[in-house]
Amino acid sequence: MLFGYPVSAATANNWLHECLCEILRSIHASLETATPLPLPAWPDIIPARYRKRLEKRRGLEDRLNIYRITLEKLTTAEQKQILQALHDQNQIELLLSCHLNCEAIGNFPEAIHEPVKKLFEFGFELLTTLEIRDKHYKAIYDETPHVCPFCGCQPFDALGSRREALDHYLAESKYPFAGSNLRNLVPMCNKCNSYKLAQDILVKKDGTRRKSFDPYNCTEIRLSLENSQPFAGTITPTGQIPKWQIDFQPNTEEITTWDEVFHIRERYERNELDPKFKSWMDDFKRWCKSAKILPSSDQELVEAINRYATYYEEMGISDRAFLKASVFRMLHTHCQQGDQRLIFFIMSNLT
Ligand SMILES: [Zn+2]
Repeated sequence: MLFGYPVSAATANNWLHECLCEILRSIHASLETATPLPLPAWPDIIPARYRKRLEKRRGLEDRLNIYRITLEKLTTAEQKQILQALHDQNQIELLLSCHLNCEAIGNFPEAIHEPVKKLFEFGFELLTTLEIRDKHYKAIYDETPHVCPFCGCQPFDALGSRREALDHYLAESKYPFAGSNLRNLVPMCNKCNSYKLAQDILVKKDGTRRKSFDPYNCTEIRLSLENSQPFAGTITPTGQIPKWQIDFQPNTEEITTWDEVFHIRERYERNELDPKFKSWMDDFKRWCKSAKILPSSDQELVEAINRYATYYEEMGISDRAFLKASVFRMLHTHCQQGDQRLIFFIMSNLT
């Protein structure tokens, strides 16, 4: 992904998830003695610091009761296995970097699947009801470019508009214990969300583990089109398109996962570079005209393209500037290397 979210947006607003985990741990602890200890009744089972905010949420009480009753019927070993999964499925950073593995819900006894899923689905719904989701989104919106970091192309609307998708980065169908954990919940444009769906970000299709970007701890990457070939692409009604070679630096396993899950290269080529190349060349012509730049030599043209690429490089990610910057940087490199066919093509386009 192209940039990360501030981790404080997740950690500072994560009280509901922390509360749910604390209650579940107390339920497990009450079963660890030879004679199960009586649990406090609702709402006393809610830790005191969260009680006022949750005591009227009786739907939560019902789901916790079902979880406890189901858990009581399992063996001690099974109860331990589930408690371990509650912990492990929430170690998001370690899981994404492959420093830890966790068990998916399919490994648990069948009886506990629905109680866990229902409990955390309800927790996820409560994020909206309790306005946690909006606070989380605002904290992200205020500190990042207003665009989806998974594609860099779709704008994010301000709070108060239709909500952007909030993706369960670790799929809730397999890792439900992370279902209300903001550290695992990621605003994403609807297009990216429609590519990701319930794909398992931790595991490849062949069942092996893979590394993924951590949306809350992600260093910047750079897109390069330098290895594209100016006249080797498809011929469209508006002219010939370069044959695109989309590279990312640094070239890591996280990039491979991102591309596999979100089809990034394919989408850039099909939806951005191919259909927009001609209009971006026309933009360059208009810019030269308004700046009164009329290159009369190869060197002057190379300098004009360099200025234009630099302009977009300094714009960062907004309005697809990172893609335009890469296109003109690639054209600059090829012209600088003396590609006479390309120089002639761009010169002709300016007149
Ligand atoms: Zn997107």
